[in-house]
Amino acid sequence: MRAKLFRMPPDRPTEEDIQQAGDIIRQGGLVAFPTETVYGLGGNALDPEASEKIYAAKGRPSDNPLIVHIARMSDLEKIAGSIPSEARLLAQRYWPGPLTMIFPKTDIVPYATTGGLDTVAVRFPSHPVASALILAAGGFVAAPSANLSGRPSPTRAAHVIEDLGDRIDAIIDGGDADIGLESTIVDFSSEVPAVLRPGYISLEDLKALIPSVRMDPGLIPEQSGIRPKAPGMKYRHYAPKGSLTVVEGEKEQVIAAINRLTKEAEEAGKSCAVLCASETAAFYRGRVYTLGSRQKEEEIAASLFAVLRQLDEDGIEVIYSEAFSDGSIGPAIMNRLLKAAGHRVLQV
Ligand code: AMP
Ligand code: MG
Repeated sequence: MRAKLFRMPPDRPTEEDIQQAGDIIRQGGLVAFPTETVYGLGGNALDPEASEKIYAAKGRPSDNPLIVHIARMSDLEKIAGSIPSEARLLAQRYWPGPLTMIFPKTDIVPYATTGGLDTVAVRFPSHPVASALILAAGGFVAAPSANLSGRPSPTRAAHVIEDLGDRIDAIIDGGDADIGLESTIVDFSSEVPAVLRPGYISLEDLKALIPSVRMDPGLIPEQSGIRPKAPGMKYRHYAPKGSLTVVEGEKEQVIAAINRLTKEAEEAGKSCAVLCASETAAFYRGRVYTLGSRQKEEEIAASLFAVLRQLDEDGIEVIYSEAFSDGSIGPAIMNRLLKAAGHRVLQV
């Protein structure tokens, strides 16, 4: 099966195509679609068979729950059992947008969608194509990132075609994703609200509205004995085929170390690459992939996944990357980069 391809401008969803794509989901099929974070792989969240198809298409472990996407505030109560006032505050400020919240689930949400959990993750995306499709599909669309499990999340339709082009019913091409990193996930299903996955909306942003929110201890590197609460955060993810190491330290030392290491690897006959910011790109030897400017961390976030895919396409075997921990998206970028590196970090 080859996926049907719909193309439309991100800000003006084509009505007829949206209806067709919505019908595919209503009838139990799968449609990949653009959101402001990354491309999602959508199926009817209230149909257990559709969720099973999503797991199968991605090769995703079935204990890794799916996020349910809505496009009307009034639909939240239908799937979330109790909604604390703090969650309503966040919804008021950040929905529609790149924020996912976890609540106890109601009976209409099948366990197939929640990976067997009694909680449900809910997101209300802001992308006009995503909202139009969710409404056309009946209001509740389960949508993990539209990549094969383990690969970098897709930020453009070409990435989806590469991974899932012959495994799903349709793909809506609405251009490049704006943010390029998956949503921030906040858990409201236990006593203290916790960030289970860092994203574009930072912990500080959240604290400004709900001071009690904290980082899930399972995500803090120094507490590596604790299991992350989001099942998906424990899996190896995003890793390129080559071996990736993140080099951390003072700028000059990082540049010197990376140049020495790539030289050694090249002498050993390996194809090498450097991932860096535009400010330092000119200081490296060999093959350089520039993620964007440190002055505009949004650029770095938006290009990271596409560059990780490019490394594979270019057959790179050894990769050294600068660290990108600064600014408000820094923790989210580093979370993805460190996973891609299998937490291989060199301090210089
Ligand atoms: P993806 O849809 O590929 O962006 O991945 C969704 C992430 O949300 C995974 O890390 C899941 O484990 C996590 N997630 C979804 N639902 C829940 C839930 N009910 N409780 C905890 N984590 C969840
Ligand atoms: Mg994913």
